[in-house]
Amino acid sequence: MEFTSTRKKQNFESAKVICQGLSDEGGLFVPKCFPKISDELIDKLIDMDYKQRAFEVLKFYLTDFTDDEIKNCVKGAYTGTFENEEPAPVVEVKKGENILELWHGPTCAFKDMALQLLPYLLTTSAKKVAKGKTMVILVATSGDTGKAALDGFADVENTKIIVFYPQDGVSPMQKLQMTTQTGNNVSVCAIKGNFDDAQTGVKNIFGDEEMKKYLADKNMEFSSANSINFGRLVPQIVYYVSSYVDLIKQGKINKGDKFNVVVPTGNFGNILAAYYAKQMGIPIAKFICASNKNNILTDFINTGVYDRNRDFYTTTSPSMDILISSNLERLLYHLYDEDEAKIEELMTSLKTSGVYKISDEVKAKLQSEFFGGFCDDAATKATIAKMFKEYNYLCDTHTAVAVNVYDQYVEKTGDNTVTVIASTASPYKFSASVLPAVFDGELPNSEFLMVEKLSEVTGTKIPKSLAELKTKEVLHKTCVEKQEMENFIKEFLG
Ligand SMILES: *Cc1c(COP(=O)(O)O)cnc(C)c1O
Repeated sequence: MEFTSTRKKQNFESAKVICQGLSDEGGLFVPKCFPKISDELIDKLIDMDYKQRAFEVLKFYLTDFTDDEIKNCVKGAYTGTFENEEPAPVVEVKKGENILELWHGPTCAFKDMALQLLPYLLTTSAKKVAKGKTMVILVATSGDTGKAALDGFADVENTKIIVFYPQDGVSPMQKLQMTTQTGNNVSVCAIKGNFDDAQTGVKNIFGDEEMKKYLADKNMEFSSANSINFGRLVPQIVYYVSSYVDLIKQGKINKGDKFNVVVPTGNFGNILAAYYAKQMGIPIAKFICASNKNNILTDFINTGVYDRNRDFYTTTSPSMDILISSNLERLLYHLYDEDEAKIEELMTSLKTSGVYKISDEVKAKLQSEFFGGFCDDAATKATIAKMFKEYNYLCDTHTAVAVNVYDQYVEKTGDNTVTVIASTASPYKFSASVLPAVFDGELPNSEFLMVEKLSEVTGTKIPKSLAELKTKEVLHKTCVEKQEMENFIKEFLG
């Protein structure tokens, strides 16, 4: 399997792609072709557990890894780290509507599915292509990636990790999860700005020649744990394959039957992984792309114009408060039949004017597979209430956005194909928004009292890793201007 960049022809194997994260000219790495999962393999996957399924899917992409290496990575990532035996269960809430629960990992968000595995993929890759170097992982987070990456990389040999988050753009629980992180190789820093500022800052540092040299002199190299790194995407393909196989196993569809996928979307990584699963032969009919009030993707899917010149809103689903969805670049590359010059042109336009427009032909392709919709905070809250009242299912704010947009889709199209809705976080990560949706009384005034109340009112269990935060010491208190990110990194690296 070879990989190229969305903006310039390249020829790399997976280890290089995973270590480097972003291509030198600023493009994203993409596979040159999509391997097909045979009918025979589907039959085998049905009887396998998640780890075995992961091995079979990863093998297609990590062709420069040995079987034993992949097995070790998968074993390390998914053994004893998730609350459930199966990390990604499919739960039916009503006929035809299934929830793929992706948040049973150590940090209670779907990011764990990839970020428990990425440190293993990265250290194995570094042994192959960056001998002896320390990998410095730079992360920009809208809340969940930060903690998931910290948990994955803490005290991993030959790595250092630095996380930047928007000072006022994450939930109190998300903030506490990050600022209490222990480990001798970790650093966490708030920035005065929003997620896009953090992400742009990190991307610029990646491309900065002086910083590269600074690191090279220390025998270090930057890498990324954001979904711009293909190593983040490949573990996500696995759970869409796994959900298909589970639908068959549970008798909800027959082999070969199509199903729809709904994804609460921010940086477009999760939904892109579903698209990649389809390229491998998984019969997904529609991709339903759900946004909150930051509905740039809804507009894009409906009009073919991506325009980031708009207000940015802070919402109750903060992990989707994003105006520049990085992974959309990968989808465009595929829809434009691998025309890197065209992608370079569109991305330059985005950078200089904040806008680009796709051709009518590509727009038609996009709309044939993707439906875009959004809802605001009030609708999100109402959806949490309805899901709990009608189906006794407690969901978080991000998942509620997905459910709401799915309902809109069904209303509009009458399409009742069996559907999988990606559930991306535990409701306990967003108690201050979830509790008022299911409880009419007076709200407690602290985060942990709200967590306890939520458990009392709904009869659901508080995830252990969140309960434990109550007694942890805040270790990371720095907040810097966005121009100061580089200096912060230099100080940390010494
Ligand atoms: C990161 C995140 C999202 C958005 O996922 P993308 O891959 O960035 O589109 C949605 N929900 C939650 C809870 C998240 O943490």
